[in-house]
Amino acid sequence: MRRKNITLETSWQEYSNCLGVDADLFFPERGASTKEAKQVCQGCVVRLDCLEFALVNSEKFGIWGGMSERERRRIRRQRALDRQLVEAHEDTA
Ligand code: SF4
Repeated sequence: MRRKNITLETSWQEYSNCLGVDADLFFPERGASTKEAKQVCQGCVVRLDCLEFALVNSEKFGIWGGMSERERRRIRRQRALDRQLVEAHEDTA
């Protein structure tokens, strides 16, 4: 069984586009638009760091790296499937 890689490394946040932007924008009410938050993320130089942080730490709420929880869940599911395939391949090798 794999250990969960929790990371607290957040130095990338110093370069984020959302510094000084109202945090509520990134944590919209259920069903509210995420468009504005995603627009802020679009040109963010640390978008991938932000997204990876949220994925690794299983952030359940908000827009991270320009993606909603649903979109991040899809990536986590795909990564889990990829890991299973690799492990299955290693078992047969
Ligand atoms: S990707 Fe979006 S939420 Fe993440 S640091 Fe950049 S602007 Fe902020």
